[in-house]
Amino acid sequence: MKTIGVLTSGGDAPGMNAAIRAVVRSAIYYGCKVYGINRGYKGLLEEDLEEMNLSSVGDIIQRGGTVLKSSRCEEFKTEEGRLKGVKILKKYKIDCLVVIGGDGSFNGANKLSEMGFPAIGIPGTIDNDLEYTDYTIGFDTAMNTVIDAISKIRDTSSSHERVNIVEVMGRHCGDLALYSGIAGGAETIIVPEMEISSDEITQRLKTTQKRGKRHSIIVMAEGVEKIGSANDLKKKLTEEAGADVRVTVLGHVQRGGSPTAFDRILASRLGSRAVELLLDGKSARVVGIRDNQIIDMDIQEALSMKKTFKKDLYEMAKVLSI
Ligand code: ATP
Repeated sequence: MKTIGVLTSGGDAPGMNAAIRAVVRSAIYYGCKVYGINRGYKGLLEEDLEEMNLSSVGDIIQRGGTVLKSSRCEEFKTEEGRLKGVKILKKYKIDCLVVIGGDGSFNGANKLSEMGFPAIGIPGTIDNDLEYTDYTIGFDTAMNTVIDAISKIRDTSSSHERVNIVEVMGRHCGDLALYSGIAGGAETIIVPEMEISSDEITQRLKTTQKRGKRHSIIVMAEGVEKIGSANDLKKKLTEEAGADVRVTVLGHVQRGGSPTAFDRILASRLGSRAVELLLDGKSARVVGIRDNQIIDMDIQEALSMKKTFKKDLYEMAKVLSI
């Protein structure tokens, strides 16, 4: 009988609970023992873990956040820290670990595998910034949260003939801005991957104004350093296009909320596959989804893949928003 440890690490994402549930339930189904490690690698180093049973994960599939809590842990980036972690895992006779998180958390899992401790990664981040998988757990929910906010902002920006700049998360990845911008019918989408100057944005606004359209939604990803902040853009559009501009920074609201059906199903499939891989004696793998098929891949290979931006979708959005 194997003993599996599971933790969530890095930024939390809706659907992480569904993944924990899938890991715990499939592991128990196959006769394994499971330990839930609280607060990611930090909790591991502090020996904050407990055995989980079927009811530990009851009534959580619909809940946002992560019942295991999450954190960032600098100590785990050191060899000393990781040796301490492995010692604790061995103390509890844990044979292998499932890590639910983003690329940073996968780096930790990779390092553990290199030290001979089997680990599997499940992608949980709202950023959708991992190339090897079409979707990460939490992205769909975050996207729907942004779309919901855009719809509400659209109502008021239309009534008052205002321009609204909506800043969304995603760190260095523009997927959340791109997808929610398309679904929300944004007039302009600004992402870190594509060059766009504030002059061009101003020009686009003036063109729509000439057509008699006085309200506009601009979806802007965080991390677009070249054109400055949303407030810098507001200043420019106010001064040069005479627009009445408001800025809405959606912030952490994007990380919360009940996961969508898509995220719950994705998390359930990925969690089940992760356990199957561990039972097959696999290590240093990550699970993901491609063309609606659950796949697994070498963790280092997955981490070495550079995220490609869907330029075709970006160009299409430009056409649809003339
Ligand atoms: P998200 O991008 O959604 O915030 P993430 O998993 O990428 O998620 P990070 O803060 O990058 O978030 O990483 C989470 C934790 O993973 C870190 O705090 C650290 O404990 C561990 N980690 C990151 N990089 C390494 C590394 N190179 N070696 C060991 N552990 C690491």
